[in-house]
Amino acid sequence: MFERIDYYAGDPILGLMEKYSADNNPNKVNLGIGIYYDESGVLPVLDCVKTAEARIADPIAPRPYLPMAGLPGHRKGCQELLFGKGAQILKDGLVATTATIGGSGALKVGAEFIHQWFPQSKCYVSDPTWGNHIAIFEGSDVEVGKYPYYDKANSSIKFDEMIAFFETLNKHDVILLHPCCHNPTGMDLTQAQWDTVLNVIKAHELIPFMDIAYQGFGEDMDSDAYAIRKAVEMGLPLFVSNSFSKNLSLYGERVGGLSVVCPTADEAERVFGQLNAMVRRIYSSPPSHGGHVVDIVMNDDALHEQWVGEVYAMRDRIKAMRLKLKSVLEAKIPNRNFDYITRQNGMFSFTGLTPEQVERLQSEFGIYMVSNSRMCVAGLNTSNIDYVANAMADVLKD
Ligand code: PMP
Repeated sequence: MFERIDYYAGDPILGLMEKYSADNNPNKVNLGIGIYYDESGVLPVLDCVKTAEARIADPIAPRPYLPMAGLPGHRKGCQELLFGKGAQILKDGLVATTATIGGSGALKVGAEFIHQWFPQSKCYVSDPTWGNHIAIFEGSDVEVGKYPYYDKANSSIKFDEMIAFFETLNKHDVILLHPCCHNPTGMDLTQAQWDTVLNVIKAHELIPFMDIAYQGFGEDMDSDAYAIRKAVEMGLPLFVSNSFSKNLSLYGERVGGLSVVCPTADEAERVFGQLNAMVRRIYSSPPSHGGHVVDIVMNDDALHEQWVGEVYAMRDRIKAMRLKLKSVLEAKIPNRNFDYITRQNGMFSFTGLTPEQVERLQSEFGIYMVSNSRMCVAGLNTSNIDYVANAMADVLKD
């Protein structure tokens, strides 16, 4: 009966994690999956989260279903983080927000919404992008295309090509954008470049869909949301998917949100209703535990402040690792330029290693990164960085 079912090749990034776990090399280093490990190589539980957990646990409360859109405090937390506390669009009721099952859930609900209400729209993703962007939109029967983004030869962005490409798109085509910490390249647009992109989007009546999974890991909470807030300032309709997986270190709790900015409050109410309908038919309502953590941390001023500090400490540690990696590589291979390592933002570095070099790192040194050469810099620490830098220098030299 099931013999005709195709085998699933597995997810390249999650598969790498399994391979890493099975590796007996005592020096092995996991730079594959996008997870922040602390200086001791441990997945941190943030102090603000510990406090929230203590409140949730005392007293242990009943667990009713949450509303389809999740806890109001979770939704408000997403909105204020993305659009700024006291933003006029929030006061005017122009934003429909639903809590979602991580950033992935937000993308899924958004993709379903696009498929149902904008059936002619194609969705364009950066070349390259996080692989699941393509899978999620195609899984909702939205046709996916790629726009030029990363210039491998120069470790930069093909900005002019990208703009020229956007100018060829049809009204209401969707452009999936990474407001900060581009995954997988780490190469972000400048504010002036964002202004240009948004002007083209406006002129051609395209739909921006901003996926922000690393807010706070680039520059700071507000600067990282520049593109989102600029689009709002320009009066553009806008989809934003956000994830708390990384910046609250709550990966397995699956917390995120989908926000749709609408021209009028009436439209926002209609959209909100349809987002509820989408959620109802996909998974009915979001999980409650992570939702409560988000609600508590985002809406308690002292905890919020503590949280921001904890995110910035993670950000700064990653930046320090970039500097160190760059300096070791420069010392080892002086005729090669490693500036790209510190020009990139967020958790990832696109190293430009060939698939063969990536494979050698894995088989000879037990160092795991994605075959497209993406390295999760947040997996480096003072104990493993020399080992990794030396191994990289070795495979680059041969
Ligand atoms: N968008 C991007 C760009 C991501 O990198 C990720 C996570 N790797 C997600 C969305 C999904 O986030 P989550 O794990 O919360 O589903």
